This record gives sequence, C-alpha cells and structure tokens, in this order.
Amino acid sequence: MSMAGLIERLLPNFIARKLRERALHGATVFCPVCERGAIAFLPSGSPPRPHVLCPFCGSRERARMTWLYLKEQNLLRPGLRILHVAPEACLRDRLKELPQATYVAGDKHETGYTYPPGTIDLDVTALKFPDDHFHLILCSHVLEHVPNDRLAMSELLRVLKPGGTAILMVPIAKHNAETQEDPAVTDPKDRIRLYGQFDHVRLYGRDYSGRLQEAGFHVKEDAMTERLSPEEVFRFGLLRSELVHAGSK
Ligand SMILES: [Zn+2]
Repeated sequence: MSMAGLIERLLPNFIARKLRERALHGATVFCPVCERGAIAFLPSGSPPRPHVLCPFCGSRERARMTWLYLKEQNLLRPGLRILHVAPEACLRDRLKELPQATYVAGDKHETGYTYPPGTIDLDVTALKFPDDHFHLILCSHVLEHVPNDRLAMSELLRVLKPGGTAILMVPIAKHNAETQEDPAVTDPKDRIRLYGQFDHVRLYGRDYSGRLQEAGFHVKEDAMTERLSPEEVFRFGLLRSELVHAGSK
C-alpha cells in the first residue's frame, strides 16, 4: 500500500474527505449543482470517460445540465411539490433545500439494491398520487428501462399540475429516426448490443418528443448548450449532444 493510501486508511473518513477536497479545489471547472470550483471533473463510467464526476457532490453531466436548466427557466421556486424519480443524490440535496417545498423521491425497488433513506418504492406506470399533484417532476434516464413507457408517460402527465414541468431526459440515438424496440429482446447481451445497456428495453430515436406528445405533453426539446460558449460547456462539464426534454401540461 502506498503512503498516501495508508494515510487515507488511518484517517477518519471526514478528515480524509476534507484533505481530498482541498487538493481538488480549483478554478478550471465549476459544478453548477454544488457551486464549487475544482481542478477537474473526475473520470467515471465503464470504460471510464474523462471529465465526468464532480469530486464534491458526485454530479455528472446530465445532473449539471438539469440544474442549469431549472435555474435558467426559473423553475425552482419556494413551495413547490416535487416528484423525483430515480433520484440523483446531488440534485436531491439541492431540491430539498428549497423553502417550503414538498419533496418526494421514489424508485422501483429491486432486490439486491439499496436505496437512500426516504426513497419510496414506486412504479412509474402506476403512481399512487392524485391527479394534478406535482409542480415539478424529474424523471430522467428512467423511461428506457420501462417496458410500457407510454403508460409511464400518461401516469407522469396525470400527476403533473397544469402549468407544471416534467424533466424527462433519456438517451437518444440521434442518427435513428425511429425508436428501436422489441419485447422479444430480453437477453442482457442483446440489450447491450442493441440498446446500449443490459437493462434498457429500447433505444429512443428522434421520435422521442413525438411519443411524449402522443401521451399528451406539450414538449420542449432544448439543446441548451447552444446558448453557452464552448468555454462554458467545458467549465460546467456538459455534453454538447445532450438535449433537455421538458414536458408541460
Ligand atoms: Zn458538484
């Protein structure tokens, strides 16, 4: 074990974390979620990609873009009733800080996985909430896992308040006009090959907005990085190719 590794192991966790944070503090990149500057975003993923993970709050590109979008569009207000499906921890921590907000986090509980305290077991195709209930819904990178995504979309629309907004980002293959899906494809290896991940049941194409519209959403497909300079895109650690899909009712 290296000396640095030994020191890290002997120190109480919080001191080790403080030392690491001090070492990574800088001004090259800036995380909009935790509002801290760092010398870099850390590599993450398999295989690892560079420039992904905020060393302080653990945000990735998508969470940082979501937070910037929510702020830019003035969607973060006191007193909101918020539903956060498959919650990203960094966003959860910020949303819970909103004054007088009611915050509900939920995920489909699968055996063998653990969920943060307070995350309720939730089926996005059968939501146990009244109609017109939430001002803001965050449900990103969920629908590509859900066999009946049209039912999930109609449920999300049902519980959204008129005038409310649902952030519904998914991975999209922009070179495909149509969504690729086949319920007969269940082998994890085939799903990786066809849809990009072992537990994805489809690969959305450019028709994704249309599918949300068919469910009844008014859809805004927003390439928000086009409003930012290349320097800002780098500094905030965003993906140029990623779109924000915001559905309203
Ligand atoms: Zn951060």
